[in-house]
Order: sequence, then structure tokens, then C-alpha cells
Amino acid sequence: MTKFLLLVLLIVAVLWGPLSRLRKPARQEPARGKPAQPPTDTAGRGNGPQDIVPCAYCGVHLPRREALPGPEHGPTLVFCCAEHRRLGPRSSAT
Ligand SMILES: [Zn+2]
Repeated sequence: MTKFLLLVLLIVAVLWGPLSRLRKPARQEPARGKPAQPPTDTAGRGNGPQDIVPCAYCGVHLPRREALPGPEHGPTLVFCCAEHRRLGPRSSAT
């Protein structure tokens, strides 16, 4: 009798794993027809929301369009003005 109970418990345990795995994604799936993220057609070079980048020297935030790129320090570093670009990046973050 005990063996039978153990067998039943074993079967339940074996079946429970895959079943609970199958159920979880179905529950997390949101209702269709409602996209979580809208298409990003305004992102880019349009006049939509712009990239705000920090000056590598003083840390002031400014639109990427107005920022001066510092190619000699790498393409990711930008500066707020020519003076700061000349001074170069400053790593102290305070
Ligand atoms: Zn600056």
C-alpha cells in the first residue's frame, strides 16, 4: 500500500513539473491586440524626442544634435562646447 502511494506521488511529481511549466507562460502572456511597445518611428533623426547626452568633461546634459563629438576620444564621447572638447574627458563623477 505504501509503495502504491509512493508511486502515485512520484507520478504526480513527474507530471506536475511540465504542467506547471506549460501553464506559467500562458498566464504571463498578455492579451493580444495590445502591443506593449509602440512602434518607434519617431526615434532617429526626426524632430521627435532627442537623445540627451552628457558632456564628457562637465557632465551637463544636452541634445546630441547640439553636442560636439570628440572623435579623438572615441565616438561615444561628446562635449557641450569646443573648450571642453579641447580639455578632453574627465572621469571624476561628482
Ligand atoms: Zn562641458
